[in-house]
Amino acid sequence: MNAPLTQPLVFHPAPAQDELARRLRDAVRGEVLFDAASRGRYSTDASIYQVEPLGVLVPRTMDDVDAALEVCRSLRVPVLPRGAGSSQCGQTVGAALVIDHSKHLNAVIAFDPDAATVTVQPGIVLDQLNAWLRDKGVWFPVDVSTSAQATIGGMAGNNSCGSRSIAYGNMVHNVHAIDATLADGTQARFGPEADMRDAVPRVREIVAALRAIAAREHEEIARRVPHVMRRVGGYNVDIFAPQSERPYTRDGSANYAHLLVGSEGTLAWSRALTLKLAALPAHRTLGVVNFPTLYRAMECAQHLVKLAPSAVELVDRTMIDLARSNPAFRPVIDAALIGEPEAILLVEFTSEERADALSRLDHLIGLMGDLGLPGAVVPMREAAPQKALWDVRKAGLNIMMSMKGDGKPVSFIEDCAVPLEHLADYVDRLTQVFAKHGTRGTWYAHASVGTLHVRPILDMRRDGAAKMRAIAEEAGAMVREYKGAFSGEHGDGLVRSEWVPWQFGPRLTHAFEEIKDLFDPGRLMNPGKIVRSTRMDDASLFRYKPGYRALPLETALDWSEWNVHADPVADTLTPPGSGGDPAQGFGKAIEMCNNNGHCRKFDAGTMCPSYRATRDEQHLTRGRANTLRLALSGQLGAQFASEAVRDALDLCVSCKGCKRECPTGVDMAKMKIEFLHQWRTVHGLSLKDRLVAHLPRWAPWAARWPWIANARNRVPGLAALSERWLGIARERSLPEFRRDTFLGGPATGEAVDNPDVVLFVDTFTNYYEPENAHAALAVLQAAGYRVAVARSPDTRPLCCGRTFLASGLVDEAKHEARRVLSALAPHAARGASIVGLEPSCLFSLRDEFLSMKLGPEARVIAERALLFEEFLAKEKRAGRLDLPLKPLTQTRALLHGHCHQKAFDAMPATREVLALVPNLKVDVVESSCCGMAGSFGYEARHYDVSMRMAELSLLPAVRAADPDTLIVADGTSCRHQIGDGARREARHVARVLADALSTTRACAERSTAAARRA
Ligand SMILES: Cc1cc2nc3c(=O)[nH]c(=O)nc-3n(C[C@H](O)[C@H](O)[C@H](O)COP(=O)(O)OP(=O)(O)OC[C@H]3O[C@@H](n4cnc5c(N)ncnc54)[C@H](O)[C@@H]3O)c2cc1C
Ligand code: SF4
Ligand code: SF4
Repeated sequence: MNAPLTQPLVFHPAPAQDELARRLRDAVRGEVLFDAASRGRYSTDASIYQVEPLGVLVPRTMDDVDAALEVCRSLRVPVLPRGAGSSQCGQTVGAALVIDHSKHLNAVIAFDPDAATVTVQPGIVLDQLNAWLRDKGVWFPVDVSTSAQATIGGMAGNNSCGSRSIAYGNMVHNVHAIDATLADGTQARFGPEADMRDAVPRVREIVAALRAIAAREHEEIARRVPHVMRRVGGYNVDIFAPQSERPYTRDGSANYAHLLVGSEGTLAWSRALTLKLAALPAHRTLGVVNFPTLYRAMECAQHLVKLAPSAVELVDRTMIDLARSNPAFRPVIDAALIGEPEAILLVEFTSEERADALSRLDHLIGLMGDLGLPGAVVPMREAAPQKALWDVRKAGLNIMMSMKGDGKPVSFIEDCAVPLEHLADYVDRLTQVFAKHGTRGTWYAHASVGTLHVRPILDMRRDGAAKMRAIAEEAGAMVREYKGAFSGEHGDGLVRSEWVPWQFGPRLTHAFEEIKDLFDPGRLMNPGKIVRSTRMDDASLFRYKPGYRALPLETALDWSEWNVHADPVADTLTPPGSGGDPAQGFGKAIEMCNNNGHCRKFDAGTMCPSYRATRDEQHLTRGRANTLRLALSGQLGAQFASEAVRDALDLCVSCKGCKRECPTGVDMAKMKIEFLHQWRTVHGLSLKDRLVAHLPRWAPWAARWPWIANARNRVPGLAALSERWLGIARERSLPEFRRDTFLGGPATGEAVDNPDVVLFVDTFTNYYEPENAHAALAVLQAAGYRVAVARSPDTRPLCCGRTFLASGLVDEAKHEARRVLSALAPHAARGASIVGLEPSCLFSLRDEFLSMKLGPEARVIAERALLFEEFLAKEKRAGRLDLPLKPLTQTRALLHGHCHQKAFDAMPATREVLALVPNLKVDVVESSCCGMAGSFGYEARHYDVSMRMAELSLLPAVRAADPDTLIVADGTSCRHQIGDGARREARHVARVLADALSTTRACAERSTAAARRA
């Protein structure tokens, strides 16, 4: 395809950036970010592009936005509105002032239950809006997969569509009005025709001109605008005569807000959006139809929609396999399968009546029999399994993006929409096109509306651009043949604006340019999108531009797993270490972040606590990965170990939330260790960091004279001095050293031959809370296990090396790890379980030990290492646990999980074990990180953010708990934070169980164990 590009993209001459920055700083209260790292963090979205903005504004108020628009107008600087930046087509990157409305402009402005509308600021996130609406019985039903991060402003900008669009339509069908500011400062409400009559003259002129254009192009609109619901390319020039299968308004009248919907920030800045709400569906049922071939699934889609489902979503074989390789998704997807299908369709029905929803599910089962596939449906009648399966489907793209190697699934024909009767042929033919170009694609998503997502795997650093164009041209020809839409969901941006003339023809393209100039004659609003675009394969705009290369780096940790090449057709990887990354795989691990923005979620899980507390892109997993990538590829200067990276990683609490929850497995905690190692090599270590890191080495002395070590907490003035000299927050008490350490006490357990369990007592438990180790030992012995206590042949207790890792002292950590290996390897080789109490220490054995190049023994230890409650739960599931427990005086417990417990999925075990205590009802706090995170919360410069993290949910939940409620937390620092912030004592789960030990039985067991030892 050689689309005629109407005009090359011309940016207005930019004034010196410092003049822009200075003028903005004078004019606004929000954050004005012009440093290279901040601009770098806003130079990408979830597309393949990277364009550095002139600067970034995070406005505090709408007045800030108005003031910024005025400054930009007077300096003739382009403006680019941005929400979560999760666009896939490059809509939110450009050489402009980026205005990020997601941090502060996210309020609900008005709710009208009678009209069933809500008016919101543009930065509110869909899931947060729906959480706010839930108890009102309504929801905003455009349920995009990125609902946890997508902002309403961005959703309107892209005319987004959800899985249930067959029932509810796209954004254009659900936006009632938009209060907007034009580039010239005009403020106006765009909405139904009637609302426009009182508009200011400038807007009345626009309205008149729009009508004239629409009347003039009436026939061309009917001829050129695809007659499918999923069409989001170009401007909605058809508002006067909708071409969509679903009318934009109930009475067919024009609504001028609909022209702004899908305009990708090129026409106006949306300051408030009034949305139509739908009743929350009372009942849902789901039928999972299993198909022997993808073709058959696609053929059936046209018949299934006749049952009036609210969604028909495809998951293909590759996606099924990828989901099965994820431990969290495997049981969910397995429950939906009958045998080994090549594809499944998720067919959902909603109804006010449960009986109706059930009977429609029965109709589906009947229909599949009629279509020659009897017994192909897995019915899901209850909400829990349905939600679990929808979560897997929503994670579809992200699951796919977890592919290692330089070849990645690339979005450019990912949302072509074709009429349902052609879907099967389209899929079949496009699959052959992929094969011809030496690649393949994974198919999934909205079969109900003919919008299947598919991303061929391309290597954009090598021959990807040429293949992208060739495939796009062949796909485009098919879409035209089938009278479909080239852009059915994700918009135009940089990747598809070039295709607007191809899809709509020269007359409508000219009409689009007229519309753009009507609203924005100075061409300041997000230039180069939809009209007057660059080419999709302009490599100077790529994230991985020609010549992109990571700097050579000698890494301290093992990153070879990422240093591979992938063959997309054979679906194979070359051996670890063979990928040619000059940074030994560290570069490729960082590049796994595809900018989808899932780490911006707030709803559940842990990731990312520092973003939750600050809402800053810099303090987000994505912002960190981008900063690392820019630095490692020399885009922030020659020095990788730079202050920009240090600052971006500063608030990372190493919670490992991203390791588990980031769909592509970005493990920022591990990256932080690597960076700190590189940083220390260049910049050395501060006194405070040295003290914290070496704690396990000086702790024996502190325990010998605890009154000296603990004086800082007691002697007035010392806390203030510790802040001045060491940077330890004066507001904090420090954990107190004990003389009666566990390992220094009477020898317990160590003489056992062939123990079942080796208790690994970490530094914190040993020196600060030995009673936890005593409790664990008592419980394990009461349950009849032979327990040995892990000891080193030298006099100093064993240590996992965590404090050294937290300071980037990897060599010291390795030294400690080797001591642990030599003490525990013989036990592990014999099959004994290694049981620990402090999550961050125990999980080091399972995680960091495997990255420190320690040899095969580390894997044996990792396989045997279990948290105390994981061990008990495992024994219980195997029917081997006989633990005599009696009820406690408390009947309720509130459990806060340590981040690493959550990251390693140990929370179910903790709950299971607490459930062994008779009559104890356990509630779990839906909390992220407690904010203490090792030494993080004790540091003066982190104190505020540490408390903000704790105040997000943990401390309010603890304060709200009844005084008789047991507060349970396994992490030493979590317990300390709870004590500091809520003045409540929290207990390790081992102590709860020890308190519940039925004393008679326990004594008997203890004497038996003692007898055995003797
Ligand atoms: C993994 C993944 C899955 C996705 N799934 C879906 C899906 O199911 N359905 C779907 O439709 N999309 C999907 N998308 C695309 C994207 O998430 C959606 O389009 C989303 O609605 C964008 O929201 P955002 O806040 O990130 O907007 P942004 O990307 O920040 O902005 C989107 C556009 O709106 C403009 N804009 C933002 N705010 C304003 C404002 N105040 N005034 C004027 N213009 C503004 C921007 O300039 C930009 O052009 C997916 C993306 C990813 C990465
Ligand atoms: S860090 Fe992970 S979750 Fe965040 S944007 Fe990158 S890939 Fe997505
Ligand atoms: S380790 Fe935790 S704090 Fe750090 S980036 Fe990941 S989720 Fe955020």
